[in-house]
Amino acid sequence: MVDCIFCKIIKGEIPGKFVFKDNDFVVFHDINPKAPVHALVVPKQHVESLREVNETQVDLLGKMMLTTSKAAQKLNIANEGYKVVINNGKASGQLVFHLHLHLLGGWKEAAHWQV
Ligand code: AMP
Ligand code: ZN
Repeated sequence: MVDCIFCKIIKGEIPGKFVFKDNDFVVFHDINPKAPVHALVVPKQHVESLREVNETQVDLLGKMMLTTSKAAQKLNIANEGYKVVINNGKASGQLVFHLHLHLLGGWKEAAHWQV
């Protein structure tokens, strides 16, 4: 999508600090981290949010979770533990309307916020 900042990062039109890339996903560091380690797991396919996904995208959603698990290992936050968050829609705080999963971790003890 033309004016989507994450599509531009995926196409290399604006820079991203990449952790991982494959045919379906990219993982890059969040520009404004809310945890010691904060990466975004982003499908290359432009989908606005979970509200727009359907049965044909079940594989994509499953792969999103597996990619998250692999990225957590690569970022060395898997052993201590991490959170995943997906904002969907304005009231949740979603700012970028290209589906993405926040991968948050790197705390040395229990995170100061919990859900
Ligand atoms: P959300 O509120 O769930 O839509 O999250 C959007 C996230 O994208 C925020 O945490 C931003 O800090 C992050 N973000 C915005 N622009 C960039 C960028 N150019 N590179 C990396 N992360 C970004
Ligand atoms: Zn996009």
